[in-house]
Amino acid sequence: MKLILNFFKKIFSRSDSLDAKDLTQANSQSQVKVYSRSEHNISRSQMSQNAVKVLYRLKKSGYEAYLVGGCVRDLLLGYEPKDFDVATDASPEQVKQAFRNCRLIGRRFRLAHVHFGREIIEVATFRSSDTADNIEQKVHEDGRLLRDNVFGSIEDDVWRRDFTVNALYYNIRDFSIIDYTGGMEDHTAGVLRLIGDPSTRYREDPVRMLRAVRFAVKLGFSLEASTEQAIFELAPLLKGIPAARLYDEVLKMFLSGKAVQTFEMLRHYGLFETLFPQADHSLNNEKNNFPKVFIAKALENSDQRIAEGKSVTPYFLMSAFLWEAVQELANEKMRQGEEESFAYQHAASHVLSAQTKSISIPKRVTQSMREVWLLQLRFEKQIGGRPYRLLSHPRFRAAYDFLLLRAETGGAAMELAEWWTKFQSANDTEQRKMTRPPRKTKRKQKPKIKAVKSDND
Ligand code: ATP
Ligand code: MG
Repeated sequence: MKLILNFFKKIFSRSDSLDAKDLTQANSQSQVKVYSRSEHNISRSQMSQNAVKVLYRLKKSGYEAYLVGGCVRDLLLGYEPKDFDVATDASPEQVKQAFRNCRLIGRRFRLAHVHFGREIIEVATFRSSDTADNIEQKVHEDGRLLRDNVFGSIEDDVWRRDFTVNALYYNIRDFSIIDYTGGMEDHTAGVLRLIGDPSTRYREDPVRMLRAVRFAVKLGFSLEASTEQAIFELAPLLKGIPAARLYDEVLKMFLSGKAVQTFEMLRHYGLFETLFPQADHSLNNEKNNFPKVFIAKALENSDQRIAEGKSVTPYFLMSAFLWEAVQELANEKMRQGEEESFAYQHAASHVLSAQTKSISIPKRVTQSMREVWLLQLRFEKQIGGRPYRLLSHPRFRAAYDFLLLRAETGGAAMELAEWWTKFQSANDTEQRKMTRPPRKTKRKQKPKIKAVKSDND
C-alpha cells in the first residue's frame, strides 16, 4: 500500500514542479510555425544594410543568424526600427573572429557589438533561460532573475524573451519568420502577451511591467487580460529595481512622443507612484485640479515638440512632475521662518534626494531641474540689471517655458509671463524702459510732502 502511495506521490509531485511556463514551453515548442517570405511583409530593403551584412557574414561562416526582437516587430508594422538585434548560435568569441570591427561587452552575459561608424549591430548568442533544474539557484527570493547566462539553442532563446511579439525570428537563410509563441497572430491582432505565466515573468523582472506599458503605447496594442491583470497586483515590485536601471526606462517612456498616454497608463496601473512617489502624492492631494493640469500640459507640450521635430530634454518633464512637491516643502519652510530663496534651495535638495532613491537621475539632469525651479523666483525681479542677467542664464529658455506653463495653468501671473515674453523681443531702449525702477512711486511721494507743506503755508 505504502509503495503504491509513494508511486502516486512521485507522479503528482513531478507534475507540480512543472510551472506554467514549462507547460507553455512544452506546448508551444511542438507548435512552432514558420511564415515563409510570401506570408509576411518584411523585406531586406527595409533593414539597415549593416545588419544585413552581419546576418550574411554569420551565415557564410556556417552559423545560424536571425534578426530578433523589436526590429522584427517594428518592421512588420512598417515602422523604422530603432536598432537591429541579431541572434546566433555562434559563441561571442566566434562572432568576434568573424568580424574585424567587433567588440565583446558585458560581464554577466557576453554580447558582441559589431561597429559600423556610429551604428552598432548587437549580436547575441542564443541564451538559455531558467530551466526547472536550476531555477532555485538563479531566482532571488522575491522571484527576480539573478543569472541569465547559459548559452542555448533558438528553442531556448525564445522563452527568456518578454512578449510574444518580441520573440519572432527573421531567418536570413530563407527570409522566413520563425514563431514559437504565437507572436505573429498576436501581432496581427494587436495584442501584447507575456510569454508564460505573467506573474512569474513579472516577478523575474518587474521592469517588464514598464515595457508592457511602453510597447502598448508605442504600438497601439492592447494588453492581453492576464498580462494586464498581474500588473495591478505586482506594480510595487518595481520599488526593488536598482535606481540606475530605471532612469533609462523612464526616458524611453516619456521621450517617446506619447508621454500623455504613457503617464495615464502608468497612473492607472499604480506604476507611476513607484517611479515618482512625491509627484504621485501631490497628484492625489490636488487642489483645484493643480498640479494635474500643469503636469498634463507639460506632457502635452513635450509630445507636441517631438511631433514638430524639436528637441526635448529629460529634465523639463521631471521638473514639472516634482514642482508641486518643491513648492509645498518650500512654503512649509517659509512658514517656519526661512527666507524664500533658501527655502526653495533646501526644498529642491530634499525633493531631489528623495527622488533619486527610486530613479538615479544623473547629476547634470538634477542640476538643471534645480535651476529651472530656482529661476522661477528670479522671474519676479524685473528691475535693474537682474532681468538681463537672467536672460543670459544657460537655463533661461527652459525656465521661461516652465513659467509659461505655470501661467497657462494658473500657477503664476499671466502678466508676469507676458512681461518676459515682451522683454525678450524688445529692443535696447524698450528693455531699458521695462527694467527702470517705477518712477510713479518716487514722484508721488515728493509732491505729497510738498503738497502737505504748501497746504500748511
Ligand atoms: P525597442 O528597441 O523599440 O525599445 P525592443 O523590443 O527591441 O524595443 P530591447 O530593449 O532593444 O527592446 O530588447 C530587445 C529584445 O530583447 C526584446 O524584443 C525582447 O525580446 C528581449 N528583452 C529585452 N528586455 C527584456 C526583458 N526585460 N525581459 C525579457 N526579454 C527582454
Ligand atoms: Mg531594440
